Parts: sequence; C-alpha cells; structure tokens
Amino acid sequence: MLKKTEQRPSFKSDAIQEYFERIIYQNKLTILHLHGSAYDPDVVNLNKRVIIINCNYETHFSYDFRVAHEIAHLLHQLSSSNYHRNYFAKVTIEKRAHIDAIQLLLDFYFADLTSQKWRWDNRFNFINTFGLGPLTHLVERLLTPIKKVCE
Ligand SMILES: [Zn+2]
Repeated sequence: MLKKTEQRPSFKSDAIQEYFERIIYQNKLTILHLHGSAYDPDVVNLNKRVIIINCNYETHFSYDFRVAHEIAHLLHQLSSSNYHRNYFAKVTIEKRAHIDAIQLLLDFYFADLTSQKWRWDNRFNFINTFGLGPLTHLVERLLTPIKKVCE
C-alpha cells in the first residue's frame, strides 16, 4: 500500500522544475509523490490526469527522466483514443514514452542551441545529466545530424 506524503524530491535544478511545472500546468495535469516499496513503479491515471512518482522506486533512471517519461505517457494517452484498446504492445508503449521523454528533455537541455551538430557533439553530456546510458541508442536516433545526401 502506498502512503501519501507532502515531501517532494528535489529536482536537479530550478530551471527544469519550472519547465516541467509549465508543461503540467498547461496540460492540466497533477503530479503526486508517494513513498511506496522499491518495486512499485511510477504510474499515471489517465482519467484523473495524475502522475504518481514513487520516491522509493529503485531504478537507474534519473528523477527528471522519470517525470518526463510519465508526462509523455499521459500526454500520449490523452491524445490517442486507441490507447486503452491494446493496439500497441506494452514494449511499444514504453519505447514511445522513452522517445517522447527524451525529446522533452532535449527541448529543455538544448533550448538555446539550434545547431544539430553541436547537439550531437554534446550528446554524452546530455546522457550523463539525465542518467540515460541504457537509452543512448534512442538519444542518438533523435539527435542524428541531417545526412549530406548530395555529395
Ligand atoms: Zn512507462
């Protein structure tokens, strides 16, 4: 049984906290933090538009990525009427949320940097900042510079 608490884990920086709060506010979502067991993953409740982060969940992903992942789940479910009909395999849903979450974090992290090459060259700073080592392939897929096809 999860126990509700007022205590919130600290974000990596005020800036990313404000970034998430803006997305949460604009989409009329709510985020709750609970202290469950180490095995209770973070979840979302579509009908209540609530993200529930379990502060005790044991995972190698960073807190910021976990929040982005759950935001991605909720936004995708809210915009997809097919979601509850099991059209997609669970693994596809998780991969979709990973990709959308990485994109959310990329938009934050590289907000001022429009150069695709610069982003690519700094991808490992990004990966380390958010603990995304296991998802390096997805980060690289999203950051791949435009190929010169006319050489
Ligand atoms: Zn998920």
